[in-house]
Amino acid sequence: MTLLPDAKLFIDGELRDATGGATFDVISPWTGEVVGKAADAAPEDVEAAIVAARKAFDETDWGSDENRQNRFELVKKYRELFEQNRERLAQLAIHEAGAAQGAVYRAHVNMALDGWDDYLAVFPKVEWEKDYGEKEAFGAIHKRVGVREPIGVVGAITPWNVPLYVNIGKVVAALLAGCTVILKPAPDTPGMGAIFGELAAQAGFPKGVINVVFGSDPAQAGEMLVTDPRVDLISFTGSTGVGKRIMEKGAATLKRVFLELGGKSAKIVCDDAPNFPMEVAMTMLVFHAGQGCAVQSRLLVPKSRYEEAKQILKGAYMHFGDNWGSAEDPEHIMGPVISKRQMERVKSYIDLGVEEGATLLHGGQIRTDKGGGYFVEPTVFVDVTNDMRIAQEEIFGPVLVVIPYEDDDDAVRIANESNYGLSGGVSSGDHERAMRIAKRVRTGSMSVNNGMCIAGDIPFGGYKASGMGREWGVEGIEEYTDMKMLAWPVGQVEAA
Ligand code: NAD
Repeated sequence: MTLLPDAKLFIDGELRDATGGATFDVISPWTGEVVGKAADAAPEDVEAAIVAARKAFDETDWGSDENRQNRFELVKKYRELFEQNRERLAQLAIHEAGAAQGAVYRAHVNMALDGWDDYLAVFPKVEWEKDYGEKEAFGAIHKRVGVREPIGVVGAITPWNVPLYVNIGKVVAALLAGCTVILKPAPDTPGMGAIFGELAAQAGFPKGVINVVFGSDPAQAGEMLVTDPRVDLISFTGSTGVGKRIMEKGAATLKRVFLELGGKSAKIVCDDAPNFPMEVAMTMLVFHAGQGCAVQSRLLVPKSRYEEAKQILKGAYMHFGDNWGSAEDPEHIMGPVISKRQMERVKSYIDLGVEEGATLLHGGQIRTDKGGGYFVEPTVFVDVTNDMRIAQEEIFGPVLVVIPYEDDDDAVRIANESNYGLSGGVSSGDHERAMRIAKRVRTGSMSVNNGMCIAGDIPFGGYKASGMGREWGVEGIEEYTDMKMLAWPVGQVEAA
């Protein structure tokens, strides 16, 4: 049963089938059945997208200062078209990404469109020109001004977990900066990329400013973008392994690379947390089946309250029970994982946790009774040590690990003994104590007493193996620009 409209490529202002007409199936994570067809881009299609984006950048005034306001108005109009398609966006998130009804608007549609509005709101704060004052050199006084210019052609390579959010994070910022873009979504979620082409055509963007390509091969189109000298910047969100490869391959053309990668973020609950049971219970990793880069997948609990934490978690998971995994239930916040491959990967980590000697407190099974899709039970491991692979590697599924610590220093040590550094959290009744801990954790964001540090008007990004650069906020737009210095003499130095 096909539910979703065909996902077409968008190249040089035209919605197109792939050269040669190849397509691939879009599979529902809920049923394992085909829910749509997508054009399977051939290398010629990716080439055509690069040529179109290059031409639009080099031969039109798209990125000029004079066109800045016009760009802004067009991006606003584009936003309006997405607004009119809210329901379709929700259907794509449900059927392609496996979002549950109770999560789909919150995390997939609303948060993404709010982020777009935030970009529009912060756009006037971009510092397009910076006055560096005057300085004497070689007997003359020189006036210096820095001007920000769009970096050029952007290859935006995105993952499947929250595809609308990540696509907006890149495409909207690049367009506002004055770049031209080739969006390359993941093979699991082509429709959430294709809609960017369809609505760009309706909005009336000049030809070549936005292009969308995708294919069944996860790497082919992306590698072409990464290795092509006509692409100036790769903005990538995805796994750390692919991120490293992009950096390596991009080095041949000294391409700018902007990387948002994986995470294994720690939530530290202090012994004096005001509502200890709530702090522990809310870390249950169930929302969108734990498929979020910034999820707090390591729960750090003081040894003195470890047994209590186990009981709380046991109760919380029991209470959550079987209230997940239905595509129809509006209350459900957890559905399947994205694919069979991902389900098997998550299960192999669960088996590994048992082998490593951790205690499976709850869950751990694949649930075939929930349908033909890819359902893994909400799972929690206790008696975990930070050197276990389940504590070090990103599982990207509904698997929480709970690690005991001695004191604040020990908690910080454990949080930092990770290759990753994307997000995290700390809860304490003493705000100063929480702030001290938060500042010591080497990570791109840290929620203090459940403060919300992910929003479209503030920067987001990783330390260490979680990436480089920042998305969202003014910084997120500036990421797509470069700085040019201009200087001119304004007078002579008076002889003494
Ligand atoms: P992935 O790295 O497998 O794929 C991401 C994208 O890269 C896809 O579009 C894929 O087709 C493409 N790709 C794959 N191989 C490539 C290659 N050799 N060259 C160029 N492109 C290539 O990741 P995924 O499985 O789609 O997504 C899950 C990962 O994304 C997790 O690790 C998660 O933490 C991460 N993620 C990070 C953030 C963040 O903001 N830090 C947000 C969402 C997801």
